[in-house]
Amino acid sequence: MSSCKDATRLGSDALERKLSLRERLSLRMHRALCAGCTRFEEQLAALRALSRHWAEGHAPPAGEPPPGSAGSTGAGDER
Ligand SMILES: [Zn+2]
Repeated sequence: MSSCKDATRLGSDALERKLSLRERLSLRMHRALCAGCTRFEEQLAALRALSRHWAEGHAPPAGEPPPGSAGSTGAGDER
């Protein structure tokens, strides 16, 4: 029987690498008995998906000029 610590470690490992059959089994066994770890992993997966989403889609455009630097080019006496 694996501990919560082992289970959470396996859970986060599972997002990065393929777990062995033994690891998957012990993780599944633990999840069946422990609601806390299941919830933790759901949050971890959601967080990961969110950060990936941000990294891919919501990165601010590089090299954008600051507002107000372009447009007003000196000519101030136009009446
Ligand atoms: Zn647990």
